[in-house]
Amino acid sequence: MEVSRTTKERVGLPVYRELRERLDEFPLGAPPHESLDEILAELFTPEEAAVAAHLPALPTPLPELASRLGMKPEPLQAVCEAMADKGLVFAAVRDGVPFYSLMPLVPGIFELQFMKAETTPRAMRLARLFNTYYYAGWGRSLTTTTTPWPRVVVVERQIPAGVEVLPYERVSELIRTARSLALTNCYCRHEANLLGEGCGAPLDVCMVFGRFADFCVERGFAWRVDVDGAMAALDRAEEAGLVHITDNCQQRLNFLCNCCGCCCGILRGITKLDRPTAVASSGYIVAHDKDECTACGVCVERCHVGAIEETDDGVRVDLDRCIGCGLCNLVCPTGALTMRRRDGVEPPPRTWRELQMRMLAEKAGRGGR
Ligand code: SF4
Ligand code: SF4
Ligand code: SF4
Repeated sequence: MEVSRTTKERVGLPVYRELRERLDEFPLGAPPHESLDEILAELFTPEEAAVAAHLPALPTPLPELASRLGMKPEPLQAVCEAMADKGLVFAAVRDGVPFYSLMPLVPGIFELQFMKAETTPRAMRLARLFNTYYYAGWGRSLTTTTTPWPRVVVVERQIPAGVEVLPYERVSELIRTARSLALTNCYCRHEANLLGEGCGAPLDVCMVFGRFADFCVERGFAWRVDVDGAMAALDRAEEAGLVHITDNCQQRLNFLCNCCGCCCGILRGITKLDRPTAVASSGYIVAHDKDECTACGVCVERCHVGAIEETDDGVRVDLDRCIGCGLCNLVCPTGALTMRRRDGVEPPPRTWRELQMRMLAEKAGRGGR
């Protein structure tokens, strides 16, 4: 793997190992691999890595951080600001006081490296390194958690009439109730473009919400939209046949992605790593009416996770594989496909914090992996 000279010189420094171990403590972890060593040495200077390895996961006021790290606030702030500009550290200001926290590798550091859709040699190098890391075990750790961290949101107009719909199941509700909204580039498809493997689906349809949106806009990773702008992006995503995916919780969401099975780090868990539970179901499932089906095969192409296959006498739906996105219904010309409630789906954790705590407890139960 090609790495820059500076990165090569840094790779073996103990401070990067310490940082790697710190990142591995997050719910989705950061399993050891030489490609990750190179990624960290490329992203962080040794001085930044030494600070980052001691930053907490929750935003913490600068004076408290300075006292914990035994540093003066001004130089510590300068290092944290440099890392925030690079998308390595989260930053916010409350009542005039700066707060910082370390970003997890995912969701966080990885995404922010590709949101600006840069095409520099460094961006290409990072794309190759992250791709190597994904198939070296990181992809597995992202897609085999007991509770999945992302969940699918069904295409809203495909929700069957007469069923009780929970607010967190309506994509329009997620957008309308977001405290802050921004649009950004699909980092997975941009990474795939850099690798020469892009699928051509639209890039500018990923949404970020709340405090994370504010951070992304302030640091140039995303741009503001209003509700109408976000709904228009959603329409474009549905037209392009992309799967809505958000955090697997009910409130205080951070992102709403519009994903494809070929490039998306989440859906590739299903399509390339054979992890059918990489993402939580929308709570709905497809129903296929054979009598209405003309065996045109359009739905087979549309399903991103290979849940529909052609057979000698039409198509067959693998209900265990269906994630409930509702996209096949949009293209079926005869109405042979409809959505219905999926039985036995537990409501997701209430907040992002609850989701993280649950995933950490499950990880501890698996011996930390
Ligand atoms: S998760 Fe999906 S939409 Fe989000 S960046 Fe990846 S492919 Fe794009
Ligand atoms: S069959 Fe495929 S396209 Fe249709 S709802 Fe299920 S996952 Fe989505
Ligand atoms: S799109 Fe509709 S009609 Fe065509 S094969 Fe699929 S279910 Fe049958």
